[in-house]
Amino acid sequence: MTVGGAMEVGGEVAVGAAPPVIELSGVSKSYPGGVHALRGVDLRIDRGELAAIVGPSGSGKSTLLHLIGTLDKPTTGTVRVAGHDVGVLSDRRLSALRARHIGFVFQHFHLAAGRNAVDNVADGLLYSGVPARARRTRARAALERVGLGHRLGHRPNELSGGEKQRVAIARALVGEPDVLLADEPTGALDTASGDVVMTLIRELHAAGTTICVITHDNEIAGSLPRRIRFRDGAVVSDSRTAGPKEMAQ
Ligand code: ADP
Repeated sequence: MTVGGAMEVGGEVAVGAAPPVIELSGVSKSYPGGVHALRGVDLRIDRGELAAIVGPSGSGKSTLLHLIGTLDKPTTGTVRVAGHDVGVLSDRRLSALRARHIGFVFQHFHLAAGRNAVDNVADGLLYSGVPARARRTRARAALERVGLGHRLGHRPNELSGGEKQRVAIARALVGEPDVLLADEPTGALDTASGDVVMTLIRELHAAGTTICVITHDNEIAGSLPRRIRFRDGAVVSDSRTAGPKEMAQ
């Protein structure tokens, strides 16, 4: 757990030692049948970054997302999330790591159909030990944060695509994860709704949230401050645009 700039290590607090949010070293992933989805990937994402993971279909983006999201383990190499080596954790510890550190946003929203926006977002805290009433209070605040304070009682079928994605973003954020992983977040939206969602993602980043956007859309990738480009399971380029924060340093 981090407290200010301090990091808890085995119950002790070591000041100034916060690890990268995500760190991959020599990561490969093979599937049965000799498919090498990732080949020797080294990648570090620091707190506060907004990065696009970009590349054509089949380049390894989803495989990477599964590894970063602790939904799968590498064949070789190490994946660390907030300093924890994913490869050595039991399924139970992995679930806890995921619940505490990672917020997922999917292309097709994955909201529960019969439940209103507050309940859908509150579900993002189901495994966090937060009591039901507090879950709902925090869900309302998260919905306000994504500009949906006026849609609290609406069910998914009463919301536009863009609004559904904002509910999904609120659900991903409500547990205050270290990193938001957004997999093609505008892929199911019309251009105008997609723009609203990307604007929200930029605002969340400006407020300090660490975000990875997985996309095959070069235009979206080009609009983000860091672009990590994959091809055939390897990073072929990693570029940054200097923003106001970087320029000031
Ligand atoms: P992307 O998300 O960029 O489209 P993927 O990570 O889905 O790329 O796929 C990378 C490669 O790994 C592709 O050749 C794909 O067919 C293969 N692949 C992905 N998942 C599996 C799997 N579960 N079993 C076998 N091959 C897979």
